[in-house]
Amino acid sequence: MRANHPGLQSWVKVAPDSDFPIQNLPFGIFHHKEFGPRACSAIGDFVIDLVAVAEHSFFDDIEFDKGVLAKRYLNDFIACGKTVTNAVRNRLSEILDTDHEEWDAKGLEDFVLVPMAEAKMLLPIRIGDYTDFYSSMEHATNIGCLFRDPENALLPNWKHLPVGYHGRASSIIVSDTPVARPNGQTKPDPEQPPVFGPSRLLDFELEMGFVIGKDTELGESVTTANAEDHIFGLILFNDWSARDIQKWEYVPLGPFLGKSFASTVSPWIVTLEALEPFRQPGPVQDPAVLPYLKYDGLRNYDINLQVAIKPESSEAKVVCNSNFKYMYWNMCQQLAHHTVNGCNIRVGDMYASGTISGPEVGSYGSMLEITWKGTKPVDMPDGSQRKFIADGDTVIMRGWCEKNGVRIGFGEANGKVVPAKSIT
Ligand code: CA
Repeated sequence: MRANHPGLQSWVKVAPDSDFPIQNLPFGIFHHKEFGPRACSAIGDFVIDLVAVAEHSFFDDIEFDKGVLAKRYLNDFIACGKTVTNAVRNRLSEILDTDHEEWDAKGLEDFVLVPMAEAKMLLPIRIGDYTDFYSSMEHATNIGCLFRDPENALLPNWKHLPVGYHGRASSIIVSDTPVARPNGQTKPDPEQPPVFGPSRLLDFELEMGFVIGKDTELGESVTTANAEDHIFGLILFNDWSARDIQKWEYVPLGPFLGKSFASTVSPWIVTLEALEPFRQPGPVQDPAVLPYLKYDGLRNYDINLQVAIKPESSEAKVVCNSNFKYMYWNMCQQLAHHTVNGCNIRVGDMYASGTISGPEVGSYGSMLEITWKGTKPVDMPDGSQRKFIADGDTVIMRGWCEKNGVRIGFGEANGKVVPAKSIT
């Protein structure tokens, strides 16, 4: 694909450590004081106003209703299909290429580029359904060791199917939205009745999410071979978790209010096509999986992931460096499994990976694992310690790929924890 070529340079100045070189061109929705929400892309420190690009006739030869670019969510644009969305991305790459410096000279910059500082990024998609998987073997093993038997950390089903559950879509929020500490029932003393109040064990989960770009009909199943036709792009995903609420409520039907209060996503959807150069093999799956879960080709992606915690009044501390490549179950297998019973999927559905932990200490994707259930607190720059997340802390997630001098980033998924609402 043209837009991915590592040799491309833009007439827009892009810092070497920017998440948004000309090879990325992700999609999002932004709001500006002078006009309503609309579709955008990004380059360097600028948002690219796609409505303005369309008004300058640059998309005239791409057949789709340009009105979809002026919608509050990207769903209708995404539903136009990859032929259209890829053509738009390629066209942006042409317009911004140094070969077309004349467009810069003509003042195109003034019409289509908006400084990021002036743009408010909004939740980019109307999310229909949200499913959360549990597909990192290192994470599942850590949890098994912490709560069950280290000798048999993985449950018997784990290597035979990508375990998941249906999550809550309504509370998925975009980066920079505050997260109120949830209230709920917990049972801190096993010998005493449950109590009600703010969660004391608030945690993050470092995950990647993917967004569905093509519907299926009820009864239809996606295969591992055609799953990528249905994946529009990827996003950073913080699946906030209240461990104490979760622990008391999850038996026998699984996660509920300990998870449903909030999940934070980054505002940019990086297309699967932009990630093409970063494919790599997944881990060997042993025992062999059932035929509908077998796959060909490189289905894992080398995406560096990082989590930092910034206390209210001190600098941030990085607490985790992980990578999306560690996933045992890949997105194609997750989607094949999700639809093997005929469950339909819809444009705008969100599928999260599950917490992404790497093999070493330092690469664990939740405080539960980093502090080993609170037994190894983390020292913060201001002299305080963390076992879990404190009020006033901002949890900052970042993701980026790097190869051949090209760095494709995801921006950030940030959430500041504010005190629980008082319920009497
Ligand atoms: Ca999760």
